[in-house]
Amino acid sequence: MFKTLAQKIIGTRNDRLLKVYQKRVKQINLLEEHYKKLSDDEIKSEFNTLQDKVSKNEKSLDDVLNDVFAIVREVGSRKLNMRHYDVQLIGGMVLNDGCIAEMKTGEGKTLVATLAVVLNAMSKKGVHVVTTNDYLAQRDANEMKAIYEFLGFSVGVLVQGNNALRKEIYACDIVYGTNSEFGFDYLRDNMCFSAEDKMQREHNFVIVDEVDSILIDEARTPLIISGPTNRTLDGYIKANKVAQALQRGVASENPKEKPSGDFVVDEKNRSIILTESGISKAEKLFEVDNLYSMDNAILAHQLDQALKANNLFEKDVHYVLRNNEVMIVDEFTGRVSEGRRFSEGLHQALEAKEGVKIQEESQTLADITYQNYFRMYSKLSGMTGTAQTEASEFSQIYNLEVISIPTNVPVIRKDLDDLIYKTQDEKFKAVVNLITQLHKKGQPVLVGTASIEKSELLHSYLVKAKIPHSVLNAKNHAHEAEIIKDAGKKGAVTIATNMAGRGVDIKISDEIRELGGLYIIGTERHESRRIDNQLRGRSGRQGDPGTSRFYLSLEDNLLRIFGGDRLKAIFTRLKIAEGESIESPLVTRAVANAQKKVENLHFESRKHILEYDDVANEQRKTIYKYRNELLDVNYDISQKVEQNINEYTQSLFEEYQDYNTLSEFLNSEFKIGVDIELLQTMQDNEKLTLLCSSINKFIDDKFKDALENKENIQKFIYLQVLDHVWREHLYQMDILKTGIGLRGYNQKDPLVEYKKESYNLFLELVQRIKIESIKILLMAKIANKEEEQQELKSVEENSSAKKQLRNDLCACGSGKKYKNCCGVSGPKQGIFA
Ligand code: ADP
Ligand code: MG
Repeated sequence: MFKTLAQKIIGTRNDRLLKVYQKRVKQINLLEEHYKKLSDDEIKSEFNTLQDKVSKNEKSLDDVLNDVFAIVREVGSRKLNMRHYDVQLIGGMVLNDGCIAEMKTGEGKTLVATLAVVLNAMSKKGVHVVTTNDYLAQRDANEMKAIYEFLGFSVGVLVQGNNALRKEIYACDIVYGTNSEFGFDYLRDNMCFSAEDKMQREHNFVIVDEVDSILIDEARTPLIISGPTNRTLDGYIKANKVAQALQRGVASENPKEKPSGDFVVDEKNRSIILTESGISKAEKLFEVDNLYSMDNAILAHQLDQALKANNLFEKDVHYVLRNNEVMIVDEFTGRVSEGRRFSEGLHQALEAKEGVKIQEESQTLADITYQNYFRMYSKLSGMTGTAQTEASEFSQIYNLEVISIPTNVPVIRKDLDDLIYKTQDEKFKAVVNLITQLHKKGQPVLVGTASIEKSELLHSYLVKAKIPHSVLNAKNHAHEAEIIKDAGKKGAVTIATNMAGRGVDIKISDEIRELGGLYIIGTERHESRRIDNQLRGRSGRQGDPGTSRFYLSLEDNLLRIFGGDRLKAIFTRLKIAEGESIESPLVTRAVANAQKKVENLHFESRKHILEYDDVANEQRKTIYKYRNELLDVNYDISQKVEQNINEYTQSLFEEYQDYNTLSEFLNSEFKIGVDIELLQTMQDNEKLTLLCSSINKFIDDKFKDALENKENIQKFIYLQVLDHVWREHLYQMDILKTGIGLRGYNQKDPLVEYKKESYNLFLELVQRIKIESIKILLMAKIANKEEEQQELKSVEENSSAKKQLRNDLCACGSGKKYKNCCGVSGPKQGIFA
């Protein structure tokens, strides 16, 4: 990074912060002697004394930091045989300060985390450590457990599928798990029906490992729990046929000239634009007059997705077919994403394209972005080898400062300039040549590729060259970690999609050091410089030797789409012959500029998603807060009910305009008795009060002999209505989001429009919760004691009957008692349908 003159003179902010941290490291180092002399038990007892003081609020976490860090270091060296290096102490402090510790691969971030984890676990509010996959969560927790348990903390690991234990795991002082497990548990917690079913405690302190991968790369895909919409899917097949009947054209260089064909593909923005001829052709095929009228919005949307599926998405690059199912390939990890589906009909469009069964379209039942999930923590921190390129995004979106920490031992890896070839074939031949040489020598080499497809291509080249090698990709990721661990062994040749095995330590022996260490070959530049740096960082850990070099070609996607013209010009000017390459810092810089362009595009798109989610986030917070109140046994709902009865009555009055008619309605609809004679003697405001109190009395009577506590039933009804109406709302918000883009054409800012409309929808939602809950209260038939006696009798008489007892678990599988579930009888149809 280039420093400005001012920075050179007064030092960067990073340098200044490091100085402050280094001072503190000295203080911690001074405590080392003391703790070294103590026995295990003595250390434990000194730690307990500190813990006591923190618990009693006599000391803050910051007050005890020096001692706690010194203790953790001592315990680390006794129990794990690893003494925290000074730079690792700095990392621990950076995490504790709620910042991002940028520490290179191999610097021991797993161990760094223990310092901040222990310190913050002392507040007893829970500490979460987030990793990118289950394997790492398990590994890190297992490896570090010795420190935590020695100091008396419990450790839990969230792995897929252990749902029954979740609550216990979250009760632990320290919880390791993946981002999606934490996020989905939060959503599930806000769909459950009793406070006891909630798994998570507070969102207190979290350390996100590989933070760039989680908060940036994955931030474009929100967490969504979805369910079926029950709509017809034939439209996708038709749209696919239409899409395939249209001719792809090219946009003319001259903006005044019309593009040819029926549609053009804009690879930069990953969008498709229909030409006039395309529109009229599509209208003919769909047999509609105007594709862009509101009535045909769904057709237009399905056609758009079908065109994208056919022209922007490639099999084995963006998705794979497995057991006749379309599965997403994660572009960053190269892995098949189990269970994830593209949203807004794109997945259905791909299924139509591949001619496999089109799976039901789903709608959002609950969703949140990672951004908004992680912003809920009182203190958020992270660590990674590569954050500096995205420092401004971390600061703008998460209010996270990136602090770069020097390595324990200087890095001596040689990062060579890129080599650029004209064609992909020449490039791969050169790569194979290099691998052959290295392999002969015995120097291990790790080759990074941009996709599964490219991994397989390289694999076929290596088979021809008879070089033994392992391929790591989405298809055998179960053993990924095991394979990549050995990537530093003598003669090893390992091919991996760009992030496969991230976080796994590659160790090398002295013999390999002699041979020059691990050689890293990149076969394509990734869209983001960070990912390339990650690949490089697989080599040269803790002062080990190593080399890295990227091999590119003008046919690579990145160069073809962004900034290829300049490079092509250089090639022609220099008259580069076949098989020859250019190597120059100039070229490397041109490539980096292309990458910056793409990084910016992605940042904008993430910001865009977040701007939209922020609107939803406020609503989600309001709804979840109210939901939590309803689950709270101490919450008194009676006032609310009374108030809502009042509002309901008023709304009815607005409809009927007359109290007599209104009371007749109440009587005929619900059998609510109103003293009409009394009513007629009253003033208008008194009339309203009389009606409300009649309704209140009606409800009270209903509950007189109820089996279950009145309040509980009322809360349950509110909860049901809230969930139902909230889901409907989310569905409308989805449609609003996809449809709102079209309004951009009317010179309106889509985001402003979205905010306005979604606010109106939200007001409606709140109103509906109130009114519908009261309606159900009025209509519901509440089971009473007498009825239960009869029910029991009938069950006894007919012992083989499948009839459910009111206290049995409900047969619908909700996990609730029958009387609290389907046993609340009432005209659910029509309101819940
Ligand atoms: P990172 O996550 O920063 O890439 P890891 O946490 O995977 O690094 O650690 C890399 C290797 O360094 C591991 O084998 C670990 O055991 C080792 N290591 C980390 N810290 C120390 C230490 N203070 N002393 C000795 N070995 C360490
Ligand atoms: Mg790590």
